[in-house]
Amino acid sequence: MAEGNWKIYVATDLEGASGVFRFAQTRDITSPLYVQAMEYLMGDIAALVRGLREAGASRVVVADGHGRGDNFIPHLMEPGATYITGGPRKPGEGLDRSFDGIVLLGYHAMKGTADGVLNHTQSSMVEMRYWYNDRESGEIAATSLIAGGLGVPVIMVTGDVATCREAREFLGRNVVTVATKRGIGREAAELYPLQETREAIFEGAGKAIEAIGRCRPFKLPAPIRCKREWIERTERPSETRIAVRESSVRDIKKILDF
Ligand SMILES: [Zn+2]
Repeated sequence: MAEGNWKIYVATDLEGASGVFRFAQTRDITSPLYVQAMEYLMGDIAALVRGLREAGASRVVVADGHGRGDNFIPHLMEPGATYITGGPRKPGEGLDRSFDGIVLLGYHAMKGTADGVLNHTQSSMVEMRYWYNDRESGEIAATSLIAGGLGVPVIMVTGDVATCREAREFLGRNVVTVATKRGIGREAAELYPLQETREAIFEGAGKAIEAIGRCRPFKLPAPIRCKREWIERTERPSETRIAVRESSVRDIKKILDF
């Protein structure tokens, strides 16, 4: 086993987990499909935690990020990490400057990505879109900016092929990416067997630890011009309009909510 004293934060989402490709798996926690998706996510997390520990991480903190943030199944928690779940809590709870790297696990491509499985930005229900300094940005960029504000680099991203591509476009070539499936449409995918994606995640975790020194925190010059757009109902039933909000944001923690 490698020597190391690395401290790694893991931000999770559900849409990019192995085996997840339908919104019905991600929206209603009382649905058996949702509970099964949570199990899939826990399997991916377990492979990552084993890989990070094997590669020398001494502390791993895994944060539950999808929806209301209560997607973890306690009896499936892999030993060697702690697990932050439930809400309300702020994005990046528990993340601070002492971490050597952050992994984005189970992420998805931004809204409008043709081959992005379950593509959306923050809310698929109102088709939210975000721009930072005039560049349309998804959740990979948002989480990376929040971590970057604390000086913590993204070292690894998992999700579908489109997610991996978006990660490299925003973060550069040094970030380790592991594809869990290939998107065909928003709810259509070529799935990879779970045993294989978990092996890939385990191996990717080792490479991610090696990449720590090469990955740089993701930052934008402040203040950041932030814009978001979403679909809003009007007074008339079935009629909608596009709402827009713009702001100049200095506090990086406010880039989602301005
Ligand atoms: Zn999600």
